[in-house]
Amino acid sequence: MKTDPKIHDVLVIGGGHAGCEAALAAARMGAETVLVTLSRDTIAQMSCNPAIGGIGKGHLVKEIDALGGEMGKVADATGIQFRVLNASRGAATRGSRCQSDFMAYKTVMRQILESQSGLKIVEGLAEELLFQGNQVIGLRTENEEHFAQTVIITTGTFLNGLIHRGKERVDAGRVEEPSAKKLSLSLANQSLKLGRMKTGTPARLDKRSIDWSQLGLQPGDEQPKKFSFWDSEILLPQVPCHIAYTNERTHQIIKNNLGKSALYGGEITGIGPRYCPSIEDKIVKFADKNRHQVFMEPMGYAEDSLMIYPNGLSTSLPTDVQLEFLRSIDGLEKVEIIEPGYAIEYDMLDPTQLKATLELKAVKNLYLAGQINGTTGYEEAAAQGLMAGINAVLKVRKKEPFILQRNEAYIGVMIDDLITRGVIEPYRMFTSRAEYRLHLRE
Ligand code: FAD
Repeated sequence: MKTDPKIHDVLVIGGGHAGCEAALAAARMGAETVLVTLSRDTIAQMSCNPAIGGIGKGHLVKEIDALGGEMGKVADATGIQFRVLNASRGAATRGSRCQSDFMAYKTVMRQILESQSGLKIVEGLAEELLFQGNQVIGLRTENEEHFAQTVIITTGTFLNGLIHRGKERVDAGRVEEPSAKKLSLSLANQSLKLGRMKTGTPARLDKRSIDWSQLGLQPGDEQPKKFSFWDSEILLPQVPCHIAYTNERTHQIIKNNLGKSALYGGEITGIGPRYCPSIEDKIVKFADKNRHQVFMEPMGYAEDSLMIYPNGLSTSLPTDVQLEFLRSIDGLEKVEIIEPGYAIEYDMLDPTQLKATLELKAVKNLYLAGQINGTTGYEEAAAQGLMAGINAVLKVRKKEPFILQRNEAYIGVMIDDLITRGVIEPYRMFTSRAEYRLHLRE
């Protein structure tokens, strides 16, 4: 076992959306920071749809930006279609959103992390937390030990992750990435309360196999509006999205195969996101609807970027059934799947165990941010990461914590909701969660 002799100020586990903002915030405040993550190649990877912002989420991106975070700037640099949602309604309900180039987003964010002074990146799977009494002091990976005054865990869907596709089950944190089983056990051993949640994603489709002439066109805004208040720029060419519709035949195929769906076959025990239901869920819960809209979102702007994300078709059906129902959709008669959809179950921690700083009440100097706290979404994760990073540094410096109130920011609303009410399903941000929404504007 190799031991890093340095005691860092802040150690971040996981280079997802929460981890990137946490690590950057800490290093930019001058703290000696180390980020331990599975692979540099998956830093800031978008696990599901390649898009930033949306209703309520756009507010979070702009708050992150105002506090010096990076998400808005990277979204500007890598966005390929910008739209302000609810543009015809009042300013308080509008939500900025952009479609992102999947590869460009993670490449740009990784470059920013790699060029950040005071931030060291280590590749590895964190397996065990190290404690002294009720205080965390570091972690152990498969072959290294790292020590720090504060630790922030941002492991997303990886804790005890289990992928489902039909009857097939694979231990994984995301497709073809390992599940973090030992780390979950290390947290459970501290008598912390864990829960189980689930989420899902649709198949990724080959754009060359789609008959685009049969689909409706959805262009972006004529004047794309960037997220960041700083000097960022929209750099990439803007591309349109398309709209397809499911039909009665699609619904019949899904109904005929519900028993094979991991979600409906009783295989999955975790609670799923109500606001991103699977197509199986939609067919069962909205049985009176004879069609559902599917946004065909390009995952990149370049000619050789082949993947299309069919937003609205998240599923845990077996691959052959996925192909059958997809091919029943007008324009998709000859569609080819690049990567089939799947559902994932994972452990999360009950966020009522946290203080408003995102430090655990029971374990000193240990912070949690992102999906591990029962939220869903890149923006929710990034906002928590930023707050945990700032507060970890303030703790090291023995300074007053930085806490946003419900009347000041959507970030304040989210953290207060999490720590006072807990979660019974994956938590995502909406304007309706903020009682001060008439003056909390983007
Ligand atoms: P992640 O982005 O998951 O990042 C976690 C990071 O931690 C990764 O870099 C990983 O490599 C690293 N890591 C994990 N464990 C370890 C370890 N032990 N040691 C070292 N590194 C580790 N959100 C929505 O809003 N809508 C959706 O429809 C939706 N669908 C989803 C479908 C799927 C299949 C998945 C996987 C996620 C989905 N999400 C969805 C959730 C969205 O991806 C997350 O909310 C967001 O990515 C959470 O960010 P995070 O930073 O908490 O974690």
